[in-house]
Amino acid sequence: MKTFKSILEFQKTFSTDEKCRKELEQSRWHGTPACPHCGSINVCRFANGKVFKCREKECRKKFTVTVGTIYQNTKVPLTKWFLATYILSVHSKGISSLQLSNWLGVTQKTAWFLNHRIREMLKDTAPELLSGIVEVDETFVGGKEANKHKSKKLGGQWAKGKTMVFGAIAREGNVVTQIIPDTTKETLINAVRDNVEEGSIMVSDENAGYTGLKHTYKHARVNHSKGEYVRGAAHTNTLEGFWSLLKRQITGIHHSVSPKHLDRYCNEATYRYNRKQWAQDDRFNNALHQCERRLTYKTLINK
Ligand SMILES: [Zn+2]
Repeated sequence: MKTFKSILEFQKTFSTDEKCRKELEQSRWHGTPACPHCGSINVCRFANGKVFKCREKECRKKFTVTVGTIYQNTKVPLTKWFLATYILSVHSKGISSLQLSNWLGVTQKTAWFLNHRIREMLKDTAPELLSGIVEVDETFVGGKEANKHKSKKLGGQWAKGKTMVFGAIAREGNVVTQIIPDTTKETLINAVRDNVEEGSIMVSDENAGYTGLKHTYKHARVNHSKGEYVRGAAHTNTLEGFWSLLKRQITGIHHSVSPKHLDRYCNEATYRYNRKQWAQDDRFNNALHQCERRLTYKTLINK
């Protein structure tokens, strides 16, 4: 695991594809290469140092360290992938595909694809349940943000083209987000149960969808329609803060985001929020550690 204190150091550390490959091998295999097709460690490395072959009779497949990772089947050099991974895991607000294309010297289409693949990599696949005081809320993302609390109830025409996102945030901890199809009681209750530990103190607004959980959680409510935003510990300000961060990233950097890709933008914002105390090299190393994900171009454009 490499350490570096600045982007200059980062670029020096990973200045060639070979250096990147070595780091990826270390991060993924810890010195013991394993066949990504069958899992066997009975493998040999070809003289070029890059390609491996599985020795298992039933397998015998060739592979490189990028097979089965987010970096598989790409014509973009690993040095550029690494730099893009660094920027997305470290930069506090993320980066537009136009800006990334200029920085990396690739087309905007390629940068857009890189951005999405890396966001897939930043997903927390098994986040821990939140506990303590946990604020829960749902919001529409996309379009105009005027008069949020009142508009939330309007739905219909106002909600057109917007995506509903559920969020939960521990006052002293992490945030989780989840795209939800509606705000029925059933959907909201399931979202809370999936993400918040039983017995926690749950703070919500007046949305009736959250009632019915009082046996599982200690429930405090804030009545926004009465202009009530803070009442002692009963407020949802931490989550409001995260929502505005997420929305600023989406409208400020990417301008508009198609609903089918929204979950990945949430991954990116959530990843950085939950690691805001971490050092830059730790964030990058952690992202690299999660490289065993796939997102093909076909899946991306057809979803
Ligand atoms: Zn194999």
